[in-house]
Amino acid sequence: LTLLGIETSCDETAAAVVRLRTDGCGEIVANVVRAQLDLHAAYGGVVPEIAARAHVDLLEPAIKQAMAEAALDFGDLDGVAAAAGPGLIGGVIVGLTTAKAIALGCGKPFVAVNHLEAHALSPGLTDNVHPPYLLLLVSGGHTQLVVVNDVGSYTRLGTTLDDALGEAFDKAAKLLGLGYPGGPDVERWAARGAPTIPLPRPMMGRPEPHFSLAGLKTALRQEAMAREPLSEQDVADLCASFQEAVGDVVRDRVTRGMDLFEDLVPPDTALTLVAAGGVAANGALRAALGEVAAARGYRLVVPPPHLCTDNAAMIAWAGAQRLARGLTDDMGTPARARWPLDPDAAPALGAGV
Ligand code: ATP
Ligand code: MG
Ligand code: FE
Repeated sequence: LTLLGIETSCDETAAAVVRLRTDGCGEIVANVVRAQLDLHAAYGGVVPEIAARAHVDLLEPAIKQAMAEAALDFGDLDGVAAAAGPGLIGGVIVGLTTAKAIALGCGKPFVAVNHLEAHALSPGLTDNVHPPYLLLLVSGGHTQLVVVNDVGSYTRLGTTLDDALGEAFDKAAKLLGLGYPGGPDVERWAARGAPTIPLPRPMMGRPEPHFSLAGLKTALRQEAMAREPLSEQDVADLCASFQEAVGDVVRDRVTRGMDLFEDLVPPDTALTLVAAGGVAANGALRAALGEVAAARGYRLVVPPPHLCTDNAAMIAWAGAQRLARGLTDDMGTPARARWPLDPDAAPALGAGV
């Protein structure tokens, strides 16, 4: 199956062509990502209206480029997939409408993909990994521990009670005067620093594998204010300390998630830990996960960094998985600002739902 995938749910305008081969493996035929960084940088965050308008301008060239690189016509496709949410509604509408138009025009199946499901299934695009597996989803808007039972079937074990991990990185970067998005900058600065500054480890030791990250950011702000004016070494040490705190929290929370995962799956299940979402590009996080996985006898699978952050290859891949199961969507499918992976999740858990 060969699918065109379209991603416009946040500030990346992306189009990709992906093949699901008969042996079940994935092949990225073309993968075009046009980040809108310079448009939003001045505001220190994504401005929804600017993003939606930029998607209108950038999407058609991105699709043309992806199809040209793949050397395919729309008629050669087996289907067209787009992220239908969750995300900034204006942007989602742009990608969704475009995908529907192409599918309708060429008489091809249309697949509406949940952006979070695309992150959740993304490791299967480059690695031979099959459900069930334990997923740490860490992105700009979400921080969850999830059991991926199968395509379309997810059990959430834990979530953040306040900020998402990517959001915490972005806020940390902002208060230290670094760029946006903050994750890559914090990681770069941390490499030059030492984790000498005491920061809290929120939620560590709690039985439920939830996260809380707002307090960590507040503590970082207080430590930064106490050191004003900040030297370059201060910034580097603050970043290193922040990343070390995140690593400790993640190791503890994932260990707890593993306990619950092992209770839920059949005893002969191969133990696999998967990380996905933009923050999974972080080297310190990947190292921390490598440690927990080794300690507990799990195989760790994390996509290459450019497939952790938003891209359309993961949308096409999730679309191919759904299409292979006969799951297609009709032209009335709406764009959704909110769309939890697990429909039964308790809404009381707030952020990241
Ligand atoms: P969601 O997927 O929840 O809808 P999103 O699509 O905006 O949100 P992603 O693109 O998956 O999120 O991830 C973006 C986030 O990843 C940003 O918060 C960014 O700071 C963070 N990030 C990217 N690279 C790194 C890195 N190397 N270290 C830490 N964080 C990173
Ligand atoms: Mg983004
Ligand atoms: Fe994302």
